[in-house]
Amino acid sequence: MPKSSEPRSYLVLENYIGGKFVSCGNHIDSYDPSTAEVYCKVPDSGKEEVDAAVAAAKEAFPDWSARSPQQRGEVLNKLADLIEDNMEDLIQAESKDQGKTVTFARTVDIPRSAYNFRFFASSVLHHTTDCSQMDHMGCLNYTLRCPVGVAGLISPWNLPLYLLTWKIAPAIATGNTVVAKPSEMTSVTAWMMCKLLEEAGVPPGVVNVVFGTGQRAGDALVGHPDVPLISFTGSTATAQRITERSAPYCKKLSLELGGKNPAIIFADADLEQCIETTVRSSFSNQGEICLCTSRIYVESSIYSKFLEKFVAAARKWKTGAPSDPSNNNGALISKEHLEKVRSFVALAKSEGAIIHCGEGVDQLNLPEANKSGYFMPPTVISGIPDSSRVMQEEIFGPVTCVSPFDTEDEAVARGNGVRYGLSATVWSRDVGRVHRLAQKLQAGLVWTNCWLVRDLNLPFGGMKHSGVGREGGKDSYHFFTEVKSITIKH
Ligand code: NAD
Repeated sequence: MPKSSEPRSYLVLENYIGGKFVSCGNHIDSYDPSTAEVYCKVPDSGKEEVDAAVAAAKEAFPDWSARSPQQRGEVLNKLADLIEDNMEDLIQAESKDQGKTVTFARTVDIPRSAYNFRFFASSVLHHTTDCSQMDHMGCLNYTLRCPVGVAGLISPWNLPLYLLTWKIAPAIATGNTVVAKPSEMTSVTAWMMCKLLEEAGVPPGVVNVVFGTGQRAGDALVGHPDVPLISFTGSTATAQRITERSAPYCKKLSLELGGKNPAIIFADADLEQCIETTVRSSFSNQGEICLCTSRIYVESSIYSKFLEKFVAAARKWKTGAPSDPSNNNGALISKEHLEKVRSFVALAKSEGAIIHCGEGVDQLNLPEANKSGYFMPPTVISGIPDSSRVMQEEIFGPVTCVSPFDTEDEAVARGNGVRYGLSATVWSRDVGRVHRLAQKLQAGLVWTNCWLVRDLNLPFGGMKHSGVGREGGKDSYHFFTEVKSITIKH
């Protein structure tokens, strides 16, 4: 609870355990990134709260897992309806909590959160299992899939409700019960979703949400012996800790991690469409999307022309108050994150790179109320070697680097020359070339002549340090269930 000396106007969140809102003794401050003011108190849950949530999820499992996929799907569809009914409130809340623009929350985050439930409500009805005959042995073999039990779901701050529902929906559609822990920096829309669960018909204990830090609540969830599965989205460093922590329990892990995604642009690309999309792929959501482009390799013959037009387009990408629907970008998530992103621009400068626009070059004209917010304009860098940390590490902000290349092989080698392998974008009208590159690039997702077009049936995830496992459609079904091979001698 807020201390008596503090204003009473904070939004105070509560955990959702066993179908009830439960208050927590201690809270963490949560900031509005566009004003730098504390406006919300998030429960600082620990082992006790996680234990209670896991116990509730365990109790709810037998009944929920015994329901048919159709019955569970009806509940998921009702929840999608309720998210749509509350769309505007969720949009405003997500924007305030994360710093993203209302336009991004309206067009991406909240519609997709509803769609995650709708998609898995239907998807789960269409899976089949395998069967094989062994007539010479008089045997018939088949496989069965069963829910795993209590699923631990941990999500990051960049697409808060979108990524949390991407986990909750397939987990419960396949008959598991869940304990979810959203990011402590963006917990509000998850709490709002909890208010809809009862009306949607989600039985008590099927979805439990425990708020708090990774170090306390997240660690207690990963280390809980009754949670056999963890689906995690976040940074590679945290994934390494989760892997170590869960190893003694042999947990099933899905890890969706960071990226350092290249765009490879050939001279025969449709330049207008390519520039429009590459500005979007570099800067959308303040560059705080794991799939954002952060290295742009351009064929030498069009390099100067591309750079000039790209910088001009980046300058038109408007940054300002998240509540103003005409803005393309809002504020970054936190002061610490803004400082980290700025430090990469300073590093590039110290290494002799050219900063064409953005940080240190262009001034933002912010409203008075937003002067202390964590804003940064889209920043384009060139003249930086691939060996620089700026070209190797995930920056996760509105910063992208442009560099020329001469041959297809060089572009592939440089595109692959980082420890990450999440996504890549290829721009060319040569059909043979885009197929060749798609095959050679070390990335879980390759987009050619487009970006962020998603069919939820397809596997989503990265290779190398960008992740382990895939989710989406059949892959989510496989991850959230255990398979058994059964042999019947007849
Ligand atoms: P983060 O790793 O700091 O935190 C992610 C979540 O893990 C949070 O809920 C946090 O509280 C929790 N956590 C932290 N330490 C933990 C621990 N020891 N045990 C258990 N849980 C712990 O990541 P972030 O800063 O919130 O998110 C940004 C990162 O997420 C970026 O690297 C980005 O690329 C990545 N990301 C990846 C995808 C993807 O699908 N591949 C999508 C979005 C974001």
